[in-house]
Amino acid sequence: MTGAVSPGEDGRIRGRCRKCMLEDWDDKTLHEKILRTVEQMDPDVRAEEAVYQARLEHCRSCDKLLAGMCRVCGCFVEVRAANKNSRCPGEHHHW
Ligand code: SF4
Repeated sequence: MTGAVSPGEDGRIRGRCRKCMLEDWDDKTLHEKILRTVEQMDPDVRAEEAVYQARLEHCRSCDKLLAGMCRVCGCFVEVRAANKNSRCPGEHHHW
């Protein structure tokens, strides 16, 4: 998917897919920072990869996902889902 960054005259970022994870954007800078944050997490608190991916699949189909962020808690879901102690903050607790 394309996710071109195109700040308008008012400086607001437009053109990003509202239903994409950061990894889906053409602009990889922020996603690389997020990945580094996940990689630097203590292994004791990091969720198993299969759990992590399953959580992200729930987020992808959730109407609270907006440009890589959860609109309920404001977290980047790719960080929140990486912590095995985290829970989905949504009303239906998808994970
Ligand atoms: S409410 Fe839960 S499933 Fe939805 S985006 Fe937030 S963390 Fe993901």
